[in-house]
Amino acid sequence: MTAVQHEPVTATVLAPNYHPLPVTITEGLGSWVTDTHGHRYLDLLSAYSALNFGHRHPALVAAAHAQLDRLTLTSRAFDHDLLLPFASRLAELVGPLVAGEPMVLPMNTGAEAVETAIKAARKWGYDVKGVPDGRATIVVADGNFHGRTTTIVSFSSDPDARTGFGPYTPGFRRVPYGDAAAVEAAIDETTVAVLLEPVQGEQGVVIPPDDFLPAVRAACTRADVLLVADEVQSGLGRTGTTLACELWGVRPDLVTLGKALGGGIVPVSAVVGRADVLGVLTAGTHGSTFGGNPLACAVGLAVVDLLDTGEPQARARALGAHLGARLDGLVAAGMLRTVRRVGLWAGLDVEPTRSGGPRTGRELCERMLARGVLAKDTHGRTLRLAPPLTMTDEELDLAVDRLTDALA
Ligand code: PMP
Repeated sequence: MTAVQHEPVTATVLAPNYHPLPVTITEGLGSWVTDTHGHRYLDLLSAYSALNFGHRHPALVAAAHAQLDRLTLTSRAFDHDLLLPFASRLAELVGPLVAGEPMVLPMNTGAEAVETAIKAARKWGYDVKGVPDGRATIVVADGNFHGRTTTIVSFSSDPDARTGFGPYTPGFRRVPYGDAAAVEAAIDETTVAVLLEPVQGEQGVVIPPDDFLPAVRAACTRADVLLVADEVQSGLGRTGTTLACELWGVRPDLVTLGKALGGGIVPVSAVVGRADVLGVLTAGTHGSTFGGNPLACAVGLAVVDLLDTGEPQARARALGAHLGARLDGLVAAGMLRTVRRVGLWAGLDVEPTRSGGPRTGRELCERMLARGVLAKDTHGRTLRLAPPLTMTDEELDLAVDRLTDALA
C-alpha cells in the first residue's frame, strides 16, 4: 500500500478552535469517505458517533429529501405534523429505559440537551423539592465531557476546556468517576441531580466498574435526587444497546440524546425522561427556534425506525466482539498498551516506548490517515474507534489490518 501525502490545512479565515487531521473530505457513503484528491478512507470515527448509521444512509437521506420538498421550519410558535409523531416514537423507544412516565423535549445539539437537563433539574428542585433559587447543586464526575457552553465548561476537569472562560457557573460538585461512595457523599439537601456519562467517550471510552451505576442509581433514589445520564455519545446503538445504561440495568430519570439522533444529516438532540420533571419547563421557561423542527423530526423518526428493529444494536454487539478479539491480539503482540471496549466502541492507549511504533495518539492517527483510515486521538496517548454500526465484516478487517500496519 502506498502512503498518501497530504498538504496541511492552512486556513486563516477560520477561527483556530480545532486541529483537524490533514485531509479535506468531499464525499461520503456508508463506511467510506473520499477526499479532494480522490483518495478513499474507511471512517473509524463516525463523527464521534453522530454517523452511527454511516454516511448518507439511504432511509435517512430519503426521509430528509421527502421533508425538504414539503416543510422545513415552523418554529415552536406553531406545531407541525411530525412533532408529536417524533416525540411519541422516541418515547416508545426510550421510555421503557428511563424511570417513570416518559416525556420528550427536543433541542438541537448535545450541549443544548445537557443545558436543558440541568435547567429542568434545577427548576424541579425549586418547584418540587423546595430548594431555594440559586442554591441547587449537581454532582458531576472528573473527566466529564458534556459540551462547550459556559455553564458546562464551568465544571470541566480539562484545563483546556475551562481555563480563561470564567466567571464559572456555581452549583457543581465534581467527584472521581467510578466512585459511587464519593457521589453519595457529595449529595446533600441542596442536591437536585447527579449528571454522568455512563461511559466517558471523550475521555477515551472509559468504562466504569460494574457496580458504579447501580450504586449511583440507588443513592439517587434514596436521596430523591435525579440521575441524569448523558448518552449523547454512548446512546442509540453504539454500546450494543439502545442506551448504555441498559448494560447495567439502570434506568435514569433523564437522558440526553444527540449526535446519532440526527442521522449525521441534521443536528437533533432531545431530553427524554420523567414527565413530572420535564413538566416543570412550562411555556415561557425554555425553548429553541429550531428544536423539534420538521426536518429534524423527519430524520429523527427514520432514526428511531432503524433502532426499533434492533439491528444496529445487534450489529454493534457482533462486530464489536470481532473488533475486540482483533484489538486484544494487538495488545498480546505488544503493539498497544491497553484496550477498553464496549459494543462497537474502543479506546486504545498507544505504547509510547516501543521502537518504530507511534509515540502519540496523534502520530498513530496520521499514520492511519496515510493508510486510508480516519480516526481521531483524544488526550495525547489515546485513540478512539467508533466505526459506523453499518460497517461490513470485510471493511472492519481491512481497517484493522491498516491499523496494525500503522502500529508496526
Ligand atoms: N455530551 C457528550 C457525552 C458528548 O460526547 C458530547 C460531544 N462530544 C456532547 C455532550 C456535546 O454535544 P455537541 O457537540 O452536539 O454539543
